[in-house]
Amino acid sequence: MLRAQRRKRLSRPEAAASEPPGDTRAQTTCYMCACRCGINVHLSNGRIRYIEGNRDHPVNRGVLCAKGSAGIMQHYSPARLRKPLLRVGERGKSEFREIEWAEALGLAAQWLGAIRGSDPRKLAFFTGRDQSQALTSWWAQQFGTPNYAAHGGFCSVNMAAAGLYSVAGSFWEFGEPDWEHSRYLLLFGVAEDHDSNPIKIGLNKLRQRGAKIVSVNPVRTGYTAIADEWVGIRPGTDGLLVFALIHELLRLEHVDLDFLVRYTNAPWLVLRHPGGGDDGLFARDGEGRVLAWDRRANREADAQLAGIVPQLVDEVTLADGRRAVPVFQLLAERYLDPQYAPEAVAERCGIATETIRGIARELARVAFEEQITIEQPWTDWAGRRHECMVGRPVSMHAMRGISAHSNGFHTCRAIHLLQMLLGAIDTPGSWRYKSPYPKPMTPAMKPAGHAHQVAPGEAMPAPPLGYPLGPEDLLVEADGTPRRIDKAFSWEAPLAAHGLMHQVIRNAWKGDPYPIDTLFLYMANMSWNSAMNTAGTIAMLTDRGADGGYRIPHIIYSDAYFSEMVAYADLVLPDTTYLERWDCISLLDRPIGSPEGPADAIRQPVVKPDRDVRPFQDVLIELGARLGLPGFATSEGKPRYRDYADYIARHERKPGVGPLAGWRGEAGDKIAVGAANPAQLARYVENGCFWQHHLPPEQRYFKHANRDYLESAAQMGFIDRPRQIVLQLYVETLQKFRLAAEGHGPVQPPERERERIARHFDPLPIWYTPLEEAAIDAAAFPLHAVTQRPMPMYHSWGSQNAWLRQIYSRNYLYVHRHTAAALGLGDEDWVFVVSHHGRVRCQIRLVDGVNPGTVWTWNAIGKRAGAWGLAPDAPEARRGFLLNTAISELLPAHLPEERLNADPITGQAAWYDLRVRLERADAGNEDALEPLSPPRGVIVGSGR
Ligand code: SF4
Repeated sequence: MLRAQRRKRLSRPEAAASEPPGDTRAQTTCYMCACRCGINVHLSNGRIRYIEGNRDHPVNRGVLCAKGSAGIMQHYSPARLRKPLLRVGERGKSEFREIEWAEALGLAAQWLGAIRGSDPRKLAFFTGRDQSQALTSWWAQQFGTPNYAAHGGFCSVNMAAAGLYSVAGSFWEFGEPDWEHSRYLLLFGVAEDHDSNPIKIGLNKLRQRGAKIVSVNPVRTGYTAIADEWVGIRPGTDGLLVFALIHELLRLEHVDLDFLVRYTNAPWLVLRHPGGGDDGLFARDGEGRVLAWDRRANREADAQLAGIVPQLVDEVTLADGRRAVPVFQLLAERYLDPQYAPEAVAERCGIATETIRGIARELARVAFEEQITIEQPWTDWAGRRHECMVGRPVSMHAMRGISAHSNGFHTCRAIHLLQMLLGAIDTPGSWRYKSPYPKPMTPAMKPAGHAHQVAPGEAMPAPPLGYPLGPEDLLVEADGTPRRIDKAFSWEAPLAAHGLMHQVIRNAWKGDPYPIDTLFLYMANMSWNSAMNTAGTIAMLTDRGADGGYRIPHIIYSDAYFSEMVAYADLVLPDTTYLERWDCISLLDRPIGSPEGPADAIRQPVVKPDRDVRPFQDVLIELGARLGLPGFATSEGKPRYRDYADYIARHERKPGVGPLAGWRGEAGDKIAVGAANPAQLARYVENGCFWQHHLPPEQRYFKHANRDYLESAAQMGFIDRPRQIVLQLYVETLQKFRLAAEGHGPVQPPERERERIARHFDPLPIWYTPLEEAAIDAAAFPLHAVTQRPMPMYHSWGSQNAWLRQIYSRNYLYVHRHTAAALGLGDEDWVFVVSHHGRVRCQIRLVDGVNPGTVWTWNAIGKRAGAWGLAPDAPEARRGFLLNTAISELLPAHLPEERLNADPITGQAAWYDLRVRLERADAGNEDALEPLSPPRGVIVGSGR
């Protein structure tokens, strides 16, 4: 009967399945996650009716995920803020007075102007997952504060820094598998909500070609669920697994020696001078050129001379009597050690010895027996012509799960080492750089903020974030005290390239290393899912000093929605949704380039705000002008830019280089470098809001050593000069820090940091027990606890969304059924998850697809009652939970000294080091925080 009705309906002649869903279509860029897909937004009478993928867009080729299509509900979310707010009650009580923008901006300018005139460091300006960091960083530099960063320090700085110091690129934003040619993909701990559509499109290509996908992840969800092989590793032991693979490849002599000699620093000589100030540094000649040993001439030579035949093993004596050994020998000595044999690491990793051996064998077989040849001549950096491009079709990808551990920097380095040993960097079938990468570390962009670079009323001469190349680049006082409020680039986190946002509130509250005046946050839910120790962070935000004032005197916050953080702001600057503003996904920040060439994108407003809100970027530009910041006000004190759109089109970071690379020059005929073009934004809009440039075929692989590519990259301003970028198996920068810790050089760590720096700053990758695990009693906290990212939600953004809430509206703790049985727990029982720091109550579900020693939950679905326009009894608040409550920003208190729960190299937050036990609990959430009261104008939705 039903079938008959359906047939009748479908056969009706008037059925028009492709009827346009609206009267207008506008193209822009999605912002429901960080992936930056192109979208077509259909409107009817000015209201958004439907969102679809843009088939011409280079990122998603028309593919749209659940989040992207649900953008319509994000835009019309009842949680949208409607007007600037000024706090009138106690912090945290959500008692605000609506004010006009003139008053809001006047107040912000008054607070900020006062501190800029006295000590710009009293401003801490931190942003969350915003995509305008080229602007926000520039603004901080013009203000003159080094206290700036975005969310990368608690997301993936381990991965970014490890990649950039090793291979001049990194996973995800600066590189991706060669989806067209790869035959074997090894995924490590991937977050399903990052790079979502491109990975799904890529995995589909691999599956269609019959390529093998192996996923290393304690939890079998998302991409892991469609992998051919799931390796359910114990959290934090991925580095050991990779070392065992390297051990096997070295033992069986399955490494690409030609690749190592031509493209890496394997032959570079490392000085052996125990106790000396140059021990472990590269041997250099009088001109500063790194040396190798030329076997043919039997003498030392410039390591980067194309004609030499370098020696890879054995110690040599240089002409001046110094002794040195090639990098490759150090590497082989270390990883051939029996401690890294598969049978030695198997139990610790929770993986069978034979599985590890099997992966090593398959890697070697695919890399060396299924090598790929593309009949495309190319010329290398030394001018040697190659008739074809030969590649090793094994690729790797990693993200969260690697980076969120305190040993993550070295683990990620280990993966890059494995890629280099296989000859699988930017070759056909392997992992490829996304333009504008590769970028070499030298000349490095070093972080600004030294004493001579910060002065009242002055801009800083360089951006606040960068890449130190040695102790002298740290931002510390003479006694080692950090100069930044988050202690980035100090001895506590020397290579903190993305800052330490997760430590800002604690340090500001403590006045350590100094008190600040204003905490200025954008899109950063720091009183909920973006904070470790959520309850403690809230207490710090509301704590008062001896004078009765708040210990953090001013908090300015900008958000489009009533997130948990709004309640703790003194001044709220309401932002627009992503469909109501101009935006710029810039080559100066993290563009949408691919291995085929550079690309960038914009957002355009497709609807006008129906509330009294302003795009944060416009607000920042106006504030900059009001404060007279040199980049934002003319010498006569007039605004330099009308708004963000005007800034995007006219700003030049250096002559001819602006936020957008496409259609530059007055006639719009230049790419990357050229004069500002008043019609540039219109050209982007005509083109679907993106620009891309296709590299010619001879430039598409071996970019680190491809003469034509390097020359064109230099012309486009991506690199300073067209020199070979040598891949770094051995990172000398790390050894420089270690030497300082051993008492060498003018800048040395304070006594308390020496042993720690010496231990962790190893120039070759190491593995150590995650720091929390090493510090706790394993018997008291026998389980690992991690979060996974659901594909249909991005951080906390999705759980206000009426459509996405139908997929998940609460989270459970997932426990292996054997583990639960041993604890006497059953499906849907309530438990406390107890860590050394705190506990959180939740309900469990039993599963098979998880490492038995690990429990997990979805990230950021639990909500504080009253926030995000959800009814106080919404499932997110009533039955959802936030694991952050059990995670501390510090290592256990019994340690002799206060230590960050973070990677000691980069300061990356160690979210996934968490160790817990489960205790049976009563049902309910009476231990939850009191509900928040939404400000006027925020509509409270329904529970469900
Ligand atoms: S992956 Fe989905 S949410 Fe993310 S940008 Fe693309 S369409 Fe939007």
